[in-house]
Amino acid sequence: MNRKVIVLVAHDAKKTDILEWAGFNRETLKTFEIYATQTTGQILQDKLGLNINLLKSGPLGGDAQVATMIVEGKVDILVFFWDPLTPQPHDVDVKALLRLAVLYNIPIACNRSTADYIISSPLMNLEVTKSLPEL
Ligand code: PGA
Repeated sequence: MNRKVIVLVAHDAKKTDILEWAGFNRETLKTFEIYATQTTGQILQDKLGLNINLLKSGPLGGDAQVATMIVEGKVDILVFFWDPLTPQPHDVDVKALLRLAVLYNIPIACNRSTADYIISSPLMNLEVTKSLPEL
């Protein structure tokens, strides 16, 4: 089975959350191919020593890059701790990312409890075939 690709993104107010969550799940995360937006990924790389493929920062197009990866079938799981209390300059990109993640049937965790459920799912260790959108 190919290593699953997990993408990690957190808005600024949620960086502590993703750091704690990734720290707790560090050993499991090491078994995945990890991508992250620049600032999120840099923090996780520096603090936890995880090997991460860094994309652009969210406001500079990182969310759009993740959206493209989803459309190209390159993402298995998205952990996206977006901030429900602060307006974001790249709100349109955030919306596009969430829309495409739903459209392409990607498991998305937008908060820690969902991320806990997803990472501890037995499906994480299986080859999973997802249904894809048809036009
Ligand atoms: P960042 O981007 O990891 O570069 O902060 C996250 C985002 O705002 O989408």
